[in-house]
Parts: sequence; structure tokens; C-alpha cells
Amino acid sequence: MVGSNYVLDNLVDLSVYESDGETLDIALPDLVVLPATTAEVAAVVKLANEYGVPFTPRGAGTGLSGGATTIYGGISLVLTRMTKILELNPEEKLAVVEVGVTNASVSQAALKHKLFYAPDPSSQLASTIGGNIAENAGGPHTLKYGMTSDHILGLKVVTTDGTVTTLGGRSPCRFGPDLLGLFIGSEGTLGVATEACIKLTPIPDSIETLLAYFPLLEEGGQAVSDIVAAGVIPAAMEMLDTVTVKAVEDALHMGLQTNYGALLIVELDGSILSIASQREVVEEVLKKNNAAHVKWAANAEERKQLWKARKSAFSALGRIAPHGYVLDGVIPRSKLAEAITKIRRIGENYKLIVANVYHAGDGNLHPCILYHRDNEDEVKRVMRAAREILETCVEMGGTLSGEHGIGVEKLMDMPLVFSPRAIAYMQELKMAFNPKGLCNPGKVIPTPKSCGESGLRPLLRHRLSANC
Ligand SMILES: Cc1cc2nc3c(=O)[nH]c(=O)nc-3n(C[C@H](O)[C@H](O)[C@H](O)COP(=O)(O)OP(=O)(O)OC[C@H]3O[C@@H](n4cnc5c(N)ncnc54)[C@H](O)[C@@H]3O)c2cc1C
Repeated sequence: MVGSNYVLDNLVDLSVYESDGETLDIALPDLVVLPATTAEVAAVVKLANEYGVPFTPRGAGTGLSGGATTIYGGISLVLTRMTKILELNPEEKLAVVEVGVTNASVSQAALKHKLFYAPDPSSQLASTIGGNIAENAGGPHTLKYGMTSDHILGLKVVTTDGTVTTLGGRSPCRFGPDLLGLFIGSEGTLGVATEACIKLTPIPDSIETLLAYFPLLEEGGQAVSDIVAAGVIPAAMEMLDTVTVKAVEDALHMGLQTNYGALLIVELDGSILSIASQREVVEEVLKKNNAAHVKWAANAEERKQLWKARKSAFSALGRIAPHGYVLDGVIPRSKLAEAITKIRRIGENYKLIVANVYHAGDGNLHPCILYHRDNEDEVKRVMRAAREILETCVEMGGTLSGEHGIGVEKLMDMPLVFSPRAIAYMQELKMAFNPKGLCNPGKVIPTPKSCGESGLRPLLRHRLSANC
């Protein structure tokens, strides 16, 4: 169906697909299949149905919640050969793309029309539009431009029985039950998207980016909260703690200051006039919160360098420990400073190094717990600390995930935020789309047997989890 070169079944090839970016959950697929067209995807899905074989859609595998990990084995259905930009339409400000195209290459292609694709996950050089849709990805600029769901007009989808259908269309007007909205963020459990019609956004007239340091992480958190309270909605506000800044500086030698508690990046965009007044407010707030070395990027190249520091954060942390467990809790923005203090204490209690990267403007926290996977005791402490951090976020009025999804990683945490009835509704909905349960089984929605239900694939998390 797809050509023999595009079916992988030897152990070495399969092991490349044993997990996504969340490496506490590892399970080999039985087969990796790389279709190149919607018709090929449909044919593979039909065949999987005929033989009752589970199949799990996969983009670039940069997910951070184990969404693309084949925890029941079966087929890893990899969409990365589907990279065509089928239409770029500056008049309608939209593009039609195959789902395997990377996020960044869509913006790159739209640049000649002074347009861009606004959702910008830090993984955008690698992650695919299909993966972004399935996870409802966000990014630094979500603060102003919204999540992926705000930028998708329509999808071509192979349903779980292999039928090709469309959800939404080319117009933002919708009526009736919002099936498109339901599909976005469903983490590959309701079918396989193969094409997407996406909105493109005009590149703003002017962009100004600043970098500032704070003696204390909490002061940075307070500044973020105060900027929004003062009526400014920056395009992005991102914060890194000392551990992360040191790792980035060691990796990139950019001349970052490593003796401060926090580094904050603030980006303003819009008309030149509106930016001038916002700049004044931001500078005032930063001063009030003890900011030091405040520096506005002088040109596009300097701005690119500032963003490089942010977007290299997670990879730079690999210098400290071979594994990093990136959490994705959300808290109300006004409680940022308090949350930061609590997370620091949890890390100390469990004797773990926790590096912190925040989409601070959204209250979306990415504490990254650094560890060695071979150290069983350390892994247990990592999982307990992670659970405690998520519980803290929920107790503070926040939630489990800002953008990385639930996957297999937070399956057992769902009852922290959803009632049994709400979870039952979700199961019923999933059954309506995925009645045989073959499409990405074991993800997102816990069932009574979820705890340790990984069939023959032993997930490290379930083996060691204190909660199971
Ligand atoms: C360094 C780093 C930084 C990151 N930064 C961000 C960030 O700023 N914001 C953010 O939101 N995320 C971020 N992530 C997480 C990740 O990049 C996103 O979740 C991304 O959307 C995943 O895309 P992918 O192509 O890698 O998908 P995969 O990891 O391959 O898959 C993710 C999920 O999507 C499903 N899926 C994939 N393709 C399809 C399809 N065509 N149809 C149906 N389901 C499909 C899979 O089954 C799986 O459940 C980051 C990850 C890394 C490693």
C-alpha cells in the first residue's frame, strides 16, 4: 500500500519510535508505517480495522505527554512524508497544508506575503502541523494570538474506520455541533488528520523585544502579573530561571548574565505608536520590581538571538542530566510568584534539580525535573514531585496542562480536574468516533483499568508509580 521502503519492522528502526519526548513511557510499536497520501492513510487504517490492530498517528514525535507512544503496540502511523503546502492564499489569508509539514516551514513559506502562522511552539522547527492540531499546541505568542484552535479553519480527516471526511472548511463561520473544535486537541484518539486549512496572520508593523533580569524569580513573576494588570497585553512574556539560564549560556555562549534569579523576555508588537506607550508602562513596571540589565533588542538579528536563548532552553538542560521531565501545569497568572516558591520547595523536598521555563504571560509553567532514568529511586522521586507540582497547580485554581496534552503521562491525573460524570461523557464521545478503540488506545481518558493497563508493554511510570 505504501511501498516496502515505508514499512519498518526491524528492532533498530522500531526503537526510534519507542517514545515521544516524554521518555518515562516507552513501548515499541510492532510496525512503523509511513504513508504519503490521504488515500494511503485511509487504506492502512482500513486494513488495521480488518485485523483489529491498534494504530497511533504520529508526527515528529516531539510530544511531551507520551501521546504518540504505542502503548498497546500495533502500528505507529507516521505522517512526516506528507509535507506539501498545497495552497498559499494571501487574499484569503489562509494556507492548505498536508499535516506532516513542520510549523516553522509554513511561516517561512508565508513570509513572502508578509504573513505568518501564529501558533509557535518552541519545537516549531521540528513539530508538525498535524501534531500541533492534535495537541492544540500553544507557544510563546499564545498570550496575544491564541492557541492552535484559534487558527484552524478546516481539516481533512481519515476517520477511525478508514473513511475520508472533512471537518470545518475555509470559512471561520461555523454552525451546529463543533466537530472541528472537538477534533483539535483530541490527541490522535478520534482519527487521523491529513490536511489542514489554516489561518495566516499579517506580520505586525513593528516588533520590540526586551530582555531583563531579576535578583529573585518571584520578582520576575510579579512583574509579569503587574504588566498585564497595567493594561498591556504583550505578544509574549517568557521567563527562565537561573538553572536554565546557566545551561543556555554554557551551550550557546551568548553573554547571558548567570547570577540572577530570573531572565524575562517581553515582546510587544503592533503599530509603532501603540508600542511606544506600551514600552513606557513595561519599563516602569520592571523598575518597580527590581529589574536589572534591561535591554531592548536593537534589530531583528538581536531579537532572533533573544528568542534563540528561550527556544534552546530544554535542549540546553541536557547538559545537566540525560533526562528531563517537562511538566505543563497552569496557574492563574496573578499567583505566579507564589507558585514559583511552592515549586522550588517541592524540588528541594525531593532533592531534585528542577529547572524552570515559563510561558509566564499565560501562567503556563514548564518545571523541568532533571534526572537519570537508570536511577530507580530518583525516578520515583521525580514522579512524586511531578504529581505534587500538578496538585499544587490545581489547588491554586489552575489545571493539568496548558499545551502538552494528557497523553499517557497525565492519564491518572484527570480525576484531579474532572468529575467521574465528566470523564464518562468523554469516554462516550470517544466511543462515538473510535468505537473499536483501535485509534491511539489508552490515551487521554482514564478507564477503570487504566492503572497499569499497558497490556504487554511495561511502562516505567506504571511500574514505579506510587499511585498505582
Ligand atoms: C523542545 C520542545 C519544546 C516544546 N515546546 C512546546 C511549546 O512551546 N508549545 C507546545 O504546545 N508544545 C511544545 N512542545 C511539545 C510538542 O512539540 C507539541 O505537542 C507538538 O504539537 C507535537 O507535534 P509532533 O508533530 O511532534 O506530534 P507527535 O509528538 O508526533 O504527536 C503528538 C500527538 O498528536 C497525535 N497526532 C500527530 N499527528 C496527528 C495527525 N495527523 N492526526 C491525528 N493525530 C495526530 C499523536 O497521536 C499524538 O497524540 C515542545 C516539545 C519539545 C521537545
